[in-house]
Amino acid sequence: MDRGSRGICVFADNADGRIEPVVGELLTAAHRIGEITKEPVQALLIAEDCAGLVEELEDMAFHQIYAVETRGVSAFGDDSRSAVAAEMLRRVAPSCVLIPANDAGRSLFPRVAVKLNAGLTADCTELVVARRGNGEYFIKQNKPSFGDNVMVSIVHKAGRLPQMMTIREGVYETYQGNSPQGGEKPEVRVFQDILAPESAVSLLETLPFQGSDDMLSSDVVVVAGRGVEKTGKIGGKSALEAMGEFARKIGGALGGTRPLADSGLIPFENQIGQTGRVIRPEICLSFGVSGAIQHTDGIKDAKLFIAVNNDRNAPIFNVADYGVVADMEEILRALMERMERAG
Ligand SMILES: Cc1cc2nc3c(=O)[nH]c(=O)nc-3n(C[C@H](O)[C@H](O)[C@H](O)COP(=O)(O)OP(=O)(O)OC[C@H]3O[C@@H](n4cnc5c(N)ncnc54)[C@H](O)[C@@H]3O)c2cc1C
Repeated sequence: MDRGSRGICVFADNADGRIEPVVGELLTAAHRIGEITKEPVQALLIAEDCAGLVEELEDMAFHQIYAVETRGVSAFGDDSRSAVAAEMLRRVAPSCVLIPANDAGRSLFPRVAVKLNAGLTADCTELVVARRGNGEYFIKQNKPSFGDNVMVSIVHKAGRLPQMMTIREGVYETYQGNSPQGGEKPEVRVFQDILAPESAVSLLETLPFQGSDDMLSSDVVVVAGRGVEKTGKIGGKSALEAMGEFARKIGGALGGTRPLADSGLIPFENQIGQTGRVIRPEICLSFGVSGAIQHTDGIKDAKLFIAVNNDRNAPIFNVADYGVVADMEEILRALMERMERAG
């Protein structure tokens, strides 16, 4: 596939008969690219039963929806689904494919890339449209690399299409714009003649998800930084435990900076920043965080941001709406005592 390729294609990831929320985020990225390149925004849907999913996509501001039903092939049948996805992309011939950097996207699309002899950039945190000397648009795919120690910008070779990339969840907001055709339904094409080959994978049992995505959905996030390591016990608990309890009591979630995740004090899923998660809570309360850009990039969309740090020159105060120059132990103790009194 090369110069005739046109369209910004979003992989319409789905589970349990619903389109995954991350697809709305990728739709925002796709429309931003499309505004510049004037290409249509397309959905690539692969599911055992597409009917309800197509209806859901029809209300989501796509220009075109392409679907294949893979009856008898579960969502884990990547050997079969990748053959289907590759054939769909050969026919649709988009210039780029936006894929969520979740388990499904990370597992399926490396196989698709091999089948198409195309490149695949993983875990992008920013997509920038640029133009070559011959007028051709291309995407600069920015992402952390080399053990997440540097930011790199990856570019596909000229004419090597489609440009495929996985994008981290939470980087883009869910698409809020209008339907591109002024309320008209998008064009839907179900490829009846693309048949899913038999998969070598059988699904034996499905277990409910045990983890939690609280931090992404909470209105309040309490963020711990390395200051916790320099803070004494509060009511017999470590500063981090006290913060977790405080977060729970106010109905919020606990997140933290990368050094805390690196040392295993918080799970990686709760790391906030360029190489962690991007959060958009109503209120973000940060304790003992210096404010490195790699961290604050993950909280810049909080509606109200309050930071506590005992160093008045800490960069965190440049981005906070309210800054408290104080020992975090003192502030946490006061907050915990007030919560106790309030019951
Ligand atoms: C490519 C790359 C990607 C990265 N990605 C991320 C990322 O996704 N997320 C991330 O968080 N970091 C990331 N980092 C690391 C980042 O640059 C910082 O090193 C990190 O955010 C610092 O964490 P911190 O603020 O907890 O620790 P520190 O920088 O050590 O800051 C601790 C702060 O606590 C304050 N403090 C100490 N004691 C107290 C007290 N008693 N009361 C109040 N305040 C106190 C200090 O004044 C200080 O400001 C990345 C780095 C690179 C190079």
